[in-house]
Amino acid sequence: MSESAPISETETLPSAAQKVRTYGDPVLRKPVRQVTDPSSLQALVAEMWEVMYAANGVGLAAPQIGVSQQVAVLLKLSDNEQEPPQELVLVNPRLLEASSETELMEEGCLSFPGIYLTVARPRRVVVEFWDLDGNHQQVEAEGFFAREFLHEIDHLGGRLIIDRAERAALEEKRPEIEVLRRETRQRLKAQGQAKPKSAKVQRRQAP
Ligand code: ZN
Repeated sequence: MSESAPISETETLPSAAQKVRTYGDPVLRKPVRQVTDPSSLQALVAEMWEVMYAANGVGLAAPQIGVSQQVAVLLKLSDNEQEPPQELVLVNPRLLEASSETELMEEGCLSFPGIYLTVARPRRVVVEFWDLDGNHQQVEAEGFFAREFLHEIDHLGGRLIIDRAERAALEEKRPEIEVLRRETRQRLKAQGQAKPKSAKVQRRQAP
């Protein structure tokens, strides 16, 4: 998830940020596996933090770097600007309760760089998840913090902001979204052509 204004075009993104899979990449819609051993995720989570910070995000789900596992990271921002944000790792997160009262807000996503959409979300939620040590956590969240959980849990269900956005906002941004989808597809196609034949095929041909 992204919160602040997009990076200006003159600024180039650091290479870690380029690992973010963008809309049009089928991995964002792929079913995601439950995690059975959270302690095995250290390296993956370290990479997710690196990519999220490099892309100036406030949250990132594993499918956004091409990994189909129930893992997300997010920052709990403080109202007090002096206080640093708190880092949370969500393993197998699940929504337990959501208020019927909703809130409209402009929402961004690292997989839709520079595109912001108005999305209605429950104002308050209760979520559960496991941390990297395998401890069960239950958290009540409100406002933007609640939205962050909902956004990342959506990713782990293959759902994206375009599935939730208000229709008028979506129609307005549709041309940009379509350009992004086409660019992503073209890039994937070019990468696929550059790759050698799969290892499996090569092994079968070996004596
Ligand atoms: Zn997102």
